[in-house]
Amino acid sequence: MKTKITKLSAALTMLSVAQFSPASETPAASPDALLLTQVQIVDVDQQTIRRGAVLVKEGKIAAEYSAPPANFKGQTLDLNNRWLIPGLIDMHVHAFGNRAPHAKSDFAGTEKIAQRVLYAGVTGFVDLFGHEQGLINARQQQRAGAFLGADIYSSLSCLTAPKGHCTEYGLKTRTMSTPEEAITQVQSLAKAKPDVIKVVYQPSDDQPSIDKATFAAIVQQSKQLGIKTIVHLKTWQEVRDALEVGATAFTHIPGTPIPTGLADKIANAKMVVIPTMTVHTDLTDFLFDKTVIAPELLQAMTTPAIIAGYQSEETMKKWGDREAKWRKQDAQRTANLAALVKAGVTVLVGTDAGNYGTIQGYSVHREILKFTQAGMTNWQALAAATTRSGSFLGIDNTLQTGAQAAL
Ligand SMILES: [Zn+2]
Repeated sequence: MKTKITKLSAALTMLSVAQFSPASETPAASPDALLLTQVQIVDVDQQTIRRGAVLVKEGKIAAEYSAPPANFKGQTLDLNNRWLIPGLIDMHVHAFGNRAPHAKSDFAGTEKIAQRVLYAGVTGFVDLFGHEQGLINARQQQRAGAFLGADIYSSLSCLTAPKGHCTEYGLKTRTMSTPEEAITQVQSLAKAKPDVIKVVYQPSDDQPSIDKATFAAIVQQSKQLGIKTIVHLKTWQEVRDALEVGATAFTHIPGTPIPTGLADKIANAKMVVIPTMTVHTDLTDFLFDKTVIAPELLQAMTTPAIIAGYQSEETMKKWGDREAKWRKQDAQRTANLAALVKAGVTVLVGTDAGNYGTIQGYSVHREILKFTQAGMTNWQALAAATTRSGSFLGIDNTLQTGAQAAL
């Protein structure tokens, strides 16, 4: 409860808003009540902006008023006509920290990352593979109120083939070769209450992959247990297979042109896409665009060494001649995303932060920008970063009365 209020405070302080000021005439009746006045409430789903006041109580939106109620007993914060939006959610991260080419890694850890990204307006993220027990502990401690920060959601593990993708990082993960093994693993993982199930399915890749029958068994068993599946894949054929077995979502976006008609099939099946445009395309801008690595927000998100790594001499020696080639590939991915957007597919913001070309927190803003470059309206991009992700995770972050106060 208190966590949410303090989180709000941190996010607002980030916007250089004045600190809490006790209401002058009356003593606070509830230490948990906070009235936000002179707010422009950005209603992402209604696509409208209202002026008013918002009461936050016990971690939830308790009421909305067109004018602040008289004799309010509690703390007030005058937002002076600033916009209020639901907190941003990153649907695909590895929250151990940040890595960059030719730079000492920033192994901040899940707890510190959760605290840091709040400064970037990110109030929730989904970790799609790290240290299983570490993630269980971090999530549990946070939910018990031991530390503040963006809300941690996680797949806890990564279901993959022996020696398949996810096994190369030196972390223990769950591997399987048959549908029977898959069912056992899903049932065992479910005991730890993963927020989603992460599956690696990429028979096209050099690394070993689970086969289609094993893939189908994972999806089916997860469905029976009421857990959504997010599939890491590489090609449009793998997307077709994911449609066939009924996966909830896929993550990453293939680099070859999307086959005719496939976007409509994805839309009709209501399959969700988390394209992670930043991890695919932002390395280009991190290397070749000075303005992308300049913002103050970025400086607050990671170490100077990580930022310096992107345009260092060594990095440029290795990749300095790649810009034209990479930009061409990036444009193809943008065109693919544009086809999905045009077909009305539900596309969610996820960065794959933890990998090259991404910075935890900062890249969420980059991903939103890239969505608009692929044809989303600003309203659609905002929804993709907030309420659409909330509804995928089964949380109400709409700013309506009763919604969680992650702002
Ligand atoms: Zn990932």
